[in-house]
Amino acid sequence: MSKKTITNYIPEIYREIFPSFFSKNIDAEMLADCNDCVMLPGKNGVSGQDYFSEETKCCTYFPYIPNYMAGLILSAKKFPEGKKIIRQMIAAGCGITPKGIMPGKKYLHLYELSRKKSFGKNASLKCPFYQSEKGMCAVWEGRGAVCSGFFCRHVRGADGENFWNAVKKYLQVSEQVLARYSIFFLDGIPENLPATPPDPWSWSADELDEKKPDNYKEIWGKWEGKEEQFYIGAYELVKKLDRKKFESLMGIDHPYQLKKLEIAWKKMMKPQLPDIMKINPAASFRKKNENTWLASVPAGTFEIQQVVFDLLHYFDGKRKTPEVLKAIRKNLQVEPDRDLLEGFYQNRILI
Ligand code: SF4
Repeated sequence: MSKKTITNYIPEIYREIFPSFFSKNIDAEMLADCNDCVMLPGKNGVSGQDYFSEETKCCTYFPYIPNYMAGLILSAKKFPEGKKIIRQMIAAGCGITPKGIMPGKKYLHLYELSRKKSFGKNASLKCPFYQSEKGMCAVWEGRGAVCSGFFCRHVRGADGENFWNAVKKYLQVSEQVLARYSIFFLDGIPENLPATPPDPWSWSADELDEKKPDNYKEIWGKWEGKEEQFYIGAYELVKKLDRKKFESLMGIDHPYQLKKLEIAWKKMMKPQLPDIMKINPAASFRKKNENTWLASVPAGTFEIQQVVFDLLHYFDGKRKTPEVLKAIRKNLQVEPDRDLLEGFYQNRILI
């Protein structure tokens, strides 16, 4: 399987400040190809899976863009579309804060209400940075943690998903620390955001219309009207950090999150198969044609051959794996290799 490093999948700004762990090899996430989306009907998708819409792909989500990432896009020459979108957002004022750019209350509510049923499909939740006509992200180099850690399919199945969730968490903690660091050093304006979650049943006119909030001046203080300079200033500060300074800013969160990452990496790359396995009760199987089945689990839908379908049913949750393999060898005259079993286990077809 082709290899990459974790660093290949995260924005360049972190490469010099994140620990050497991020240079570790991982299997390339070849199943999730943003340029040739496997979740679209008629492309590489498995027939019968829950498809995404071509207009949105997986970008039916509005991610938090930290202040320094907004500054990166605004100060670089190569992201004209991203720059234009961020400038329009600053002019509109909704979700524009010293901490960065975030979705407004209306978007968040619609997202929460619909994400289970319409993720990847709902055009009204399309990310403001997604360019449907090009099928591309306008702020890719400044994307947030959620976008860096998200893959629609994982070559290492559920263990891969757990690993990327740990990467996402590490990135999210880093984003919070770096955004706060920038706010503090750019002349000490406080994070003047509401401390309590907004009341879901009480909406102001500007929240409903997604306009500049009444307390915008209070939020921005002397930086009101100079938001773009503020974001660029944040980027300049973060760009100058080195690894040592970054780790000291992260404090105890750094070894803590790193340890979680290391554990998740080991589970993904060197999975320990349980002594006894059985078919996941959450798995469902549908016959596709004479020789092929579709196996669906939360990790996705997979095509499997009849012989594989047959051998899976030898895993009864009672016999140990060597005994099961012996029976498969004797009755089906096939020898399932370790990679095949790992694949079933990591995709939680076998548990
Ligand atoms: S920021 Fe980019 S990658 Fe993330 S959801 Fe928006 S368009 Fe997609």
